Amino acid sequence: MTADFDRSDLEVVHDDGSRIVAGEPVADDAAIDVALRPRTLDAFIGQQRVKDQLGLVLQAASARGRAADHVLLAGPPGLGKTTLSMIIAAELGMPLRVTSGPALQHAGDLAAVLSSLVPGEVLFLDEIHRMSRAAEEMLYLAMEDFRVDIIVGKGPGATAIPLELPQFTLVGATTRAGLLPGPLRDRFGFTAYMDFYETADLRAILARSAALLDVATTPDAAAEIADRSRGTPRVANRLLRRVRDFAQVRADGHVDLDVARSALALYEVDEIGLDRLDRAVLDALLRRFGGGPVGLSTLAVAVGEEPETVETVCEPFLVRAGFLARTPRGRVATTAAWAHLGLAAPAGSTATLPFGDQTPTGTDAAGPI
Ligand code: ADP
Repeated sequence: MTADFDRSDLEVVHDDGSRIVAGEPVADDAAIDVALRPRTLDAFIGQQRVKDQLGLVLQAASARGRAADHVLLAGPPGLGKTTLSMIIAAELGMPLRVTSGPALQHAGDLAAVLSSLVPGEVLFLDEIHRMSRAAEEMLYLAMEDFRVDIIVGKGPGATAIPLELPQFTLVGATTRAGLLPGPLRDRFGFTAYMDFYETADLRAILARSAALLDVATTPDAAAEIADRSRGTPRVANRLLRRVRDFAQVRADGHVDLDVARSALALYEVDEIGLDRLDRAVLDALLRRFGGGPVGLSTLAVAVGEEPETVETVCEPFLVRAGFLARTPRGRVATTAAWAHLGLAAPAGSTATLPFGDQTPTGTDAAGPI
């Protein structure tokens, strides 16, 4: 324990301004991700339905001795899509090639990747919804017929030279399945919709990570961290590491309930996993706009963020937590949101109106993923 402890001993906000509860990878996540990733389907905790379905797809492929059907993994960031793609390759005993939509801005970029695959290889295409249109069209043919047409020349003299590809398995990952064009979605033999994790699964993930990182953690501390992890394994693992830092600086390195609570209070992650930005969004929605309805861009300006950040980073969890509803007229706070911030909902406010199909629970409520 150090007597001269101050907040600067701990990394409260990442240098790049990223958030401790972000589902996306930040700062030092990459190296730790490698250490903590389960390597087999059995070691992958939770998502039982997806595991069962995927297990069948893989077994069937092995039995047929052919490349497995193309697989689309859809779900919010940090739920294990990259991990599953690695598991798919490992279970098939095939090499894995990793690329992403933003890296494929020209059809030629994709042609270069596809033409260098070996038979049976698994191609992981992250953020597939961000691929260019030209690459997407090339991918249709590649997925269906294992062939691409390379266009040589320009204008009327241009010719298409067909290039045969080895059979491969495409594993696409997207946080926005709704943005994928129908023809692309239809070419996947299997789509796994991944949902946020139950607390019990997050506890199991934390217990496994704590053992791998050699951090002594009491079960109630693990439960406390799990409750604040927004249903997301990547967040759980990150909070565990931050709590471990705190325990090393402030306590004797052991993570018990008190240490976990104090650390998470310091990092401004509240009891249900809202951080400063989430609370700012809720606060603006309630105090400035009387609970809504208010448009996404207005709300984003009010908290000094990009609309996309508010929409993809804060909203899915706020909707899932039952605090916010997306209605055709704009964002609306629920009565639970007023209660969570300790404010009284104004009588007759829109917050008490029924939301129809905006039920704030379940996968669909998380909005377009
Ligand atoms: P995504 O690709 O969906 O953003 P990742 O596959 O990169 O998510 O997962 C992020 C981290 O969360 C990984 O390092 C992994 O350790 C952990 N993780 C995800 N899912 C699980 C799981 N089911 N069991 C254990 N750890 C998991």
